[in-house]
Amino acid sequence: MTLPLLQDLRKIFKNDTGRVFIYPSSGTGAWEAAISNTLNLGDRVLMSRFGQFSHLWVDMAKRLGLDVVSVDVEWGQGVPLDAYQQDLQRDPSIKAVFATHNETATGVSSDIAGVRRAMNAAASDALLFVDGVSSIASIDFQQEGWGVDLAVTGSQKGLMMPAGLSMLGVSAKALDAAKSATMERCYFDFADMIATNNAGYFPYTPPVQLLHGLRASLDLLFEESLPHVFARHRRLAEGVRRGVQALGLDLYAVAPEWYSDTVSAIRVPDGIDGAEVCRIGFERYRTPFGAGLSQVAGKVFRIGHLGDLNEVMCLSALASAEMSLADAGAKIDLGAGTAAAQDYYRRALSPTNPEPQPV
Ligand SMILES: *Cc1c(COP(=O)(O)O)cnc(C)c1O
Repeated sequence: MTLPLLQDLRKIFKNDTGRVFIYPSSGTGAWEAAISNTLNLGDRVLMSRFGQFSHLWVDMAKRLGLDVVSVDVEWGQGVPLDAYQQDLQRDPSIKAVFATHNETATGVSSDIAGVRRAMNAAASDALLFVDGVSSIASIDFQQEGWGVDLAVTGSQKGLMMPAGLSMLGVSAKALDAAKSATMERCYFDFADMIATNNAGYFPYTPPVQLLHGLRASLDLLFEESLPHVFARHRRLAEGVRRGVQALGLDLYAVAPEWYSDTVSAIRVPDGIDGAEVCRIGFERYRTPFGAGLSQVAGKVFRIGHLGDLNEVMCLSALASAEMSLADAGAKIDLGAGTAAAQDYYRRALSPTNPEPQPV
């Protein structure tokens, strides 16, 4: 069971020449595995913060003893390519660059190929670390094409499983770095994994039930085919965005270049409490919206649109959002959002009409 899983995960990461590791942990474990296997105490690393998840990775890097240069970006935007390039040019001692591909707290996607271009432009030979937990297997991800050295994901997002597995795509360069890196590591040690994985085993008891789940998940993804999976996420997201727009609401992402195809964070109107919208959605309409986290608590609610999902499920989320917002006191034209999304989905799925261009 294990060898085909590891082989098939490479297709998800698009990693031909490195390796993929599977850990019994949530996504956060693979963050730690990536750092502790390839870096040294005190290494200078370049990171950016623009939401709860990018914030937490910075916090971990500091606590593990890295010398973090952190660029603070206004929430609603993503990885700052120009600032990265300037920092890398100014400081050739930077050993690693970190990027959160999809910031789940704000619904912001960043340009990872662009991060690699900025590194090349600055002639940096740093390792590129990418948090792809809420992007990989839902939106395009190319570990090798984009020069990503360490790519993190987890089982409970695009892979449609319960939480409990993290997966780490590692480049040949990062595998090499792991041989001489000196940070302490044990449970997540690449060397122990390599020694046992090659024969289809793990250095400790693997969660076999989750590995069966991963098999089912990969089969579903390959049956649909990754290009179709990505197109479906694009379409589902676009319908939600049109619904939000038709309700007169704004996304938290400040411009279309940042829009995420896996989650939309929606600003609640002035005077309305986003936490109340979530509470009503959950208690009255049985819809678990994502709440606003830390800096955006109460200011947004989130519709997740990734994984095992279709157009009608997105319409139900919009319908529930309309009712929850109205019940929380917002002036909402009931049905306006769902109608706009229905219109888009009908045209996008019509065999005779070409797919309308995203707004
Ligand atoms: C969910 C998520 C994580 C990992 O969280 P875990 O709870 O440890 O699985 C990390 N980064 C992003 C962007 C996420 O969405």
